[in-house]
Amino acid sequence: MSERGVAVVTGASSGIGAATARALAAQGFEVVVGARRMDRLQALAGEIGGRALPLDVTDADSVSAFCDAVPEVRVLVNNAGGAVGLEPVAESRDEDWRWMFEANVLGSVRMTRGLLGKLEASGDGHIVIVGSIAGFEAYVGGGGYTAAKHAERALARTLRLELLGRPIRVTEIAPGLVQTEFSVVRFRGDAGRAEGVYQGIRPLMGEDVADCIAWAVTRPSHVNIDEIVVRPRQQASATVVDRGGR
Ligand code: NAP
Repeated sequence: MSERGVAVVTGASSGIGAATARALAAQGFEVVVGARRMDRLQALAGEIGGRALPLDVTDADSVSAFCDAVPEVRVLVNNAGGAVGLEPVAESRDEDWRWMFEANVLGSVRMTRGLLGKLEASGDGHIVIVGSIAGFEAYVGGGGYTAAKHAERALARTLRLELLGRPIRVTEIAPGLVQTEFSVVRFRGDAGRAEGVYQGIRPLMGEDVADCIAWAVTRPSHVNIDEIVVRPRQQASATVVDRGGR
């Protein structure tokens, strides 16, 4: 048994999730990582001395097999998710909205439900939801993603009310621009267009967000960090960005 207990990180094959798994392992957690790309997960688990398990948060059977394979857990980081498309609502596709709600919102709901009993049994459970500034701002073309992240924000606030009196903390992390594979996924594999998102600014990296998560989950047990909003210095809102160079 590790010093800090077991931490589960979803969507740990890339970006914020992979950096969080590394940061929590460095803090003394025994880390269990989940995602669909097992080759990457296994390499990461080998590097941090953790455990890799296949996970598709949009699939109830996959979530249940994952949760069954984790006997105890103290921290759950609901990070898996992302955006697809930047079309205005009038041109948006149902399948993109459906994927964003399935991966970001229902994925977090399923994982939380699946591990809630074990989080409580740890005596000091902690649920982290990786939301976004899109959870409290709207922007043109952001329709499905901002709606999903608003829903995740509502989920975090609802859980905090419903779990009051039980030994489980709930923290929402809301980042601005982070350079990960996020924009490549959003633009359906168009790496050139994705690169443009970070043009002329120094964005956050996965490690910067991981640092916030690791800090929040290592506060004393009576301290609940409700939310952390973290952006690059060159970003004032979802759409107001100083591109004057790095
Ligand atoms: P990323 O590099 O694309 O990572 C996304 C991760 O989610 C990958 O590990 C991916 O793994 C996993 N994932 C996607 N669908 C999944 C599924 N069905 N089941 C399990 N895992 C799944 O992007 P990121 O920026 O690190 O995103 C992580 C979180 O941060 C997301 O919730 C995103 O909305 C949020 N966020 C990102 C930014 C940003 O600017 N980058 C800003 C605010 C919030 P597999 O493909 O291997 O399954």
